[in-house]
Amino acid sequence: MRSYLLGYQCADCEPGTFNTDMTKDPVCPLHGRVQEARYDIAAIKREIDRDRIPAEPQSLWRWSFLLPVREPGNIVSLQEGETPLFHATRLGDRLGLPRLYIKDESRNPTGSFKDRGASVTVSKSKEVGVAGLILASSGNAAAAFSAYSARAGLAFFGFLRDDTTDINRLHTQVPGTRIHIVEGGMVEGAALAGEVARKYGLFHCAQPYNLYRIEGKKTLAFEISRQLGWRVPDRIMIPTSGGTNAVAIYKGYRELNALGWVKRIPAIDIVQATGCHPIVKAWRTGRAVENWGPPATKVMGFGHAFPKAGDAIVRIMKETGGVGWLASDDESIAGTRMIAETEGLFLQPSSASPVACLQALGREKAKNLYGDQLIVAIGTGSGKNQVVEPLAAVGRPPRIAATLAAFDAVNGDLRPAARRIA
Ligand SMILES: [Zn+2]
Repeated sequence: MRSYLLGYQCADCEPGTFNTDMTKDPVCPLHGRVQEARYDIAAIKREIDRDRIPAEPQSLWRWSFLLPVREPGNIVSLQEGETPLFHATRLGDRLGLPRLYIKDESRNPTGSFKDRGASVTVSKSKEVGVAGLILASSGNAAAAFSAYSARAGLAFFGFLRDDTTDINRLHTQVPGTRIHIVEGGMVEGAALAGEVARKYGLFHCAQPYNLYRIEGKKTLAFEISRQLGWRVPDRIMIPTSGGTNAVAIYKGYRELNALGWVKRIPAIDIVQATGCHPIVKAWRTGRAVENWGPPATKVMGFGHAFPKAGDAIVRIMKETGGVGWLASDDESIAGTRMIAETEGLFLQPSSASPVACLQALGREKAKNLYGDQLIVAIGTGSGKNQVVEPLAAVGRPPRIAATLAAFDAVNGDLRPAARRIA
């Protein structure tokens, strides 16, 4: 399907006027502010039936009418999106939440939701003919942009950090040739990426200015809506560092409401690490988001000390009745195991943080507060993306000689249990 893109606008632009595609600096050329992509909602309303959207392609590009790529030949896809939404019945039973769902983003090509933003950004970069792309990332986003840039044949400059996990570094380095480890944290890496982008005319893929990432990630709202038969969840819980997933899901629901395809916007909850929570702090205190300083968290993907989209996210939380949650590293790491042993899903610790928070609430309290709510927790990425701390937490299994006696020494006599099963 064709894109119904009208163009781009910032909050100060005149209604009905649109900026056109940009090749490097994605801010409003008139006002210097963050822009949003706008679509011809009236035409979509007339021409597209929500219940007859083609199932092909089996990727987020089935929503191409609400995505900014004009020419389908420019789409750079590794079959991202269209991830499963699981009703987590056994986990929900344990937590006192019978209507708990998990959106499993580990199924994306590089193992995280970052592929959504990468596919749309790289596709649009191909369409407008950028010189190259640049991004500083703790790991998952760099891996995604590296892979999609390789598929498009575009240059990608990726800035990692000393604490990027080996698997994320490998996943970024294998397709990418211009990868650097930059000293410092996310704030320093992003600042350098911005400087390099300006000097050499590269497209800076960071938030909040890269609106194409928002466009990719907003498809989460479309998929969740379709998967729930166009019911709107009461609450969506989003593990948050830079925070654009919250902005994107909110935009996705706004568009669906404008189309009349759903009638409500869910409460947008965000979850951050106890050791780095600039957005939850601002939500609690009512002050603007401030630089947190050095993050004190080992949970990968939770280390953004000063997210530029932070104040926008606090506004979204307040508007939608969302809640700010905090999870300790140990709780998130334990959460990965709880999700795996109840549902068989293997998510990274940051992805397990919503479940960790609900567990910390306690079954009775969770049941009283949220027991009747339909909750979707976004499982942002694969457990394979961070292994060191979770491996230490599970420990090594017992090592035994290849004899029945050694097996029995560990397990005891299982025969009574076997009879019970029969
Ligand atoms: Zn403007």
